[in-house]
Amino acid sequence: MSSERTAHSDARPVRGRGPGRRSLLKAAGAMALGVPLAAAGSRSAYADEAPVDAIVVGAGYAGGTVARELSAAGLRTVVLEARDRIGGRVWTGTFAGQRVEIGGGWLGPEHHHVLNEFKRYGLTTVQDVAATRMVMPAASGFEEVDPVAAGAELSALNVRLYDGSERYFERPTEPLYRSDLLAEVDKLSMADRIGQLDLDPVRYKWLNGSAVLYSGGPSTRGALTSMAQWERLAAGRPELTTSLKPAQGMTALLKAMLGEAKAPVLFNSPVTRVVQQSRMVTVEVAGGRRYSAPVVVVAIPTNMWKTITFEPGLPQAHADATREGIGVPHGTKIWMQVRGDTDAVYAQGDERAPLLQLVPQQQLPDGSRLVIGFSGPSLNVSDRAQVQAALRAFLPKAQLVDYRAKDWGRDPYAQGAWGMRRPGQLLRQLPAVQQPHRRVVFAGGDIASGWHGAFIDGAIESGLLAARQVTALLG
Ligand SMILES: Cc1cc2nc3c(=O)[nH]c(=O)nc-3n(C[C@H](O)[C@H](O)[C@H](O)COP(=O)(O)OP(=O)(O)OC[C@H]3O[C@@H](n4cnc5c(N)ncnc54)[C@H](O)[C@@H]3O)c2cc1C
Repeated sequence: MSSERTAHSDARPVRGRGPGRRSLLKAAGAMALGVPLAAAGSRSAYADEAPVDAIVVGAGYAGGTVARELSAAGLRTVVLEARDRIGGRVWTGTFAGQRVEIGGGWLGPEHHHVLNEFKRYGLTTVQDVAATRMVMPAASGFEEVDPVAAGAELSALNVRLYDGSERYFERPTEPLYRSDLLAEVDKLSMADRIGQLDLDPVRYKWLNGSAVLYSGGPSTRGALTSMAQWERLAAGRPELTTSLKPAQGMTALLKAMLGEAKAPVLFNSPVTRVVQQSRMVTVEVAGGRRYSAPVVVVAIPTNMWKTITFEPGLPQAHADATREGIGVPHGTKIWMQVRGDTDAVYAQGDERAPLLQLVPQQQLPDGSRLVIGFSGPSLNVSDRAQVQAALRAFLPKAQLVDYRAKDWGRDPYAQGAWGMRRPGQLLRQLPAVQQPHRRVVFAGGDIASGWHGAFIDGAIESGLLAARQVTALLG
């Protein structure tokens, strides 16, 4: 097709909207205001050095929350960020001339931490595009279904799937409140639980396709208690969990938080070593720069902890969490510009489909439509023909004009996509992974109590807890 353009690859930088330049300038401004950090070792970032109270590693939502809270408490803080931008697994970029979310992008009405923050900074949400058609797995391939009837049937299936969760997650924001009831369920994978329902093959695919998507691999990987907790947190309306979008983009809130924090963010600073000695912690960045403070907050993905040398070594629960991983291994988000069939179609794959989900987005002035796809490991997103074929499995008349894919499993500073606990991780690792290791505090959406893993709400919740832990450590 002559109008086709070259597909974007993961490695291509996003132009135009990156927050990096502004935040770097902000960092320089903070230095001029006399809030630079203490640098130990041969190379220092600033000539004018002064001690900081805390170092935050990672400028995602968890780290940004910690920095904002500590600054509000009058503590001098610096943020060390491996990338050249803020946001981590949230990344507001561009595609087809539109602002798009390369990572996390949706919110729900039960995301109370996020919505409180939106209120604080005067930010707003908009409803996501509503699907008018729906494609679901059939006995063979996929078929178009009535969205209202299929929605009702999915709700009924979910009631069976999560039966008992109102008891074992009596308080959904405190997942261990009824830990006495969890022993039997926390060991179950989504595949185990779906298998217990004795479904016909098509309804099995309906439930298992969704479980495979969230598990970022086979549904044997994802824990029943992860999805059941999200369902309970959503007050039984999981479909609302992704019903909203931030009107100003997903990074806007984090920019506002870091703006209030006035903490310098030092980009291109991947931390490689964290050494605790008496009452100081020294952090080493690739290339040898070293910084010291009485407390360090590690606000990076759990999967990344294993890339840092901790002295003394991590406690057992932390070591297990990073070895096993909470960020799911496969999670590729693909923005597609589509012609030919431009209705707002929602589609769900089965466990073997190259595309596990299609979510319709806005129609463009030229009549084409943007669609988000999530793919599993079987789709090679650098092969345009494969992406086109995967799209046509759902929408046979659709033509792929252009696409941009981001494989978060291969991202060097995430090493996984959104988080979803594995079977047994809730009981084995919470609340231990939320506890400081002497003067090193941990934060991150992956280890939140409430909206853990797949939601920035959990990252903010975890950042708030970490900030309280820092204040307690500093006495
Ligand atoms: C494809 C995708 C879709 C998602 N969809 C949604 C959604 O719709 N809604 C939603 O709410 N959430 C969604 N999420 C989840 C959400 O993005 C995460 O839960 C959240 O961003 C986690 O925040 P965090 O601060 O804990 O970690 P991160 O965002 O990963 O931030 C950690 C930061 O640490 C930095 N870092 C890593 N290693 C080092 C190091 N060694 N030294 C220094 N810095 C380091 C990283 O570069 C990063 O900036 C999605 C995630 C993905 C990947």
